[in-house]
Amino acid sequence: MANNQKKMVDDITSMDVDFAKWYTDVCKKAELIEYTSIKGCMVIRPYGYAIWENIQRILDGMFKATGHENVCMPMFIPESLLQKEADHVEGFAPECAWVTYGGNEKLEERLCVRPTSETLFCEHFKNIVHSHRDLPKLYNQWVSVVRWEKTTRPFLRSREFLWQEGHTLHATPEEAIEETEKMLGIYTKFCQEDLAMPVIQGQKTESDKFAGAERTYCIEALMHDGKALQAGTSHYFGDGFAKAFDIQFADKNNQLQYPHQTSWGVTTRLIGAIIMTHGDDNGLVLPPAVAPIQAIVIPVAQHKDGVLDAANELCDRLNKVCRAKIDDSNNTPGWKFAEYEMKGVPVRIELGPRDIEAGQCVVVTRHNREKTIVPLDKIEEVILEKLEEVRKGIYEKALENRERRTYIAHNMDEIIADLEKNGDGFVKAMWCGDEACEDKVKEVTGVGSRCIPLEQEHIDDKCVCCGKPAKCMVYWGKAY
Ligand code: AMP
Ligand code: ZN
Repeated sequence: MANNQKKMVDDITSMDVDFAKWYTDVCKKAELIEYTSIKGCMVIRPYGYAIWENIQRILDGMFKATGHENVCMPMFIPESLLQKEADHVEGFAPECAWVTYGGNEKLEERLCVRPTSETLFCEHFKNIVHSHRDLPKLYNQWVSVVRWEKTTRPFLRSREFLWQEGHTLHATPEEAIEETEKMLGIYTKFCQEDLAMPVIQGQKTESDKFAGAERTYCIEALMHDGKALQAGTSHYFGDGFAKAFDIQFADKNNQLQYPHQTSWGVTTRLIGAIIMTHGDDNGLVLPPAVAPIQAIVIPVAQHKDGVLDAANELCDRLNKVCRAKIDDSNNTPGWKFAEYEMKGVPVRIELGPRDIEAGQCVVVTRHNREKTIVPLDKIEEVILEKLEEVRKGIYEKALENRERRTYIAHNMDEIIADLEKNGDGFVKAMWCGDEACEDKVKEVTGVGSRCIPLEQEHIDDKCVCCGKPAKCMVYWGKAY
């Protein structure tokens, strides 16, 4: 048994051999997901779901601290409602799943399973917003949505996924834009601090905007293999939806006005981002803030007198300052080490008879396997220091990977040469703002525009593609 289990742990494909296979191996072997008979829909298993619950808890706290309230909308959108905003329906129609029967009866109007809920919120806002006193409305919901994706990957792109969608309504455009930017800031803070994942804040180009939005802001992260991942979005709608849904409020002078709107969302894709940002050939590496288990206690020679008692006592003490667990199963310590490395537990604590005698334990950090001998009476302090060390260590490592894989290009040949020489990554290059150039860069070099970063740099006077005067610097990359 022990041998079989050890083999199972050994069995993940090396990330340098086949990154895609490594990714799905980790998803399955760390017990995050299991496939189902429905293409693109997965079971998120308890260990994976516990990561999501931590993400939810932290973000929900940040939303509430900025005045947002949670609501719950229906999961069905009548076709006529979806059609009210022309750009929106055009963008989402190809991804909609439709309900056409209720029991045995064909429905008079088919119902879309929500791919996003702007239209439902608009219908609701129209009913409850009449006066400037009713504004702002700062709403959020934690639900699942369905988008009929053609190619699917666990967490990164599934047909049903869990997310939060914020929807807010404001009296003025300035206030709505401020909200859009504020929420982008919250996502950035969460990703960088809690997920230890560096992100670029930017704006999507016209062709890449959310269907119906005036502006789409995003955060983009670079994965270990050099591919980019859109980790979250925040949209400013202006009054386009309000006009389409006829939402109006009486301002202070009793004049009817259209309110201005935003929406913003992050999804279970963040779990995919964690895996591909921090993972290694031994499996998952979890940022402490969202790790279901932050410290795993492993008794060594646990059959010996007093070992299990001491290990349990240590675990109880740890649980007062972090999320700790003991593994007292009869698998070998070596097998357990591999198992919890696979599961990405940030810190492992080994305790054997000799340690007990010496009044100490061995603390090992997952990301660098560094061992520290720690006096037992100092463990509460040290564990918190170690968790912080892991957070900083994996952030630095991810940042180093991104910097090593960020190239500067002045023309198309340089883009091609950089990618060929150094592998996939972000390319920073200037753009004239013309969609034809955006398309051509992608066609010729394989990298598409990821975002126009908020923090601009001047790399050249001329567009990387056509040589005409440049308007802005763009991050280009291959995306998941
Ligand atoms: P959107 O509503 O299109 O702005 O999407 C919000 C966020 O959802 C995006 O930033 C993506 O990170 C994420 N996302 C989009 N499609 C999927 C999908 N099929 N599975 C998981 N996450 C997704
Ligand atoms: Zn150009």
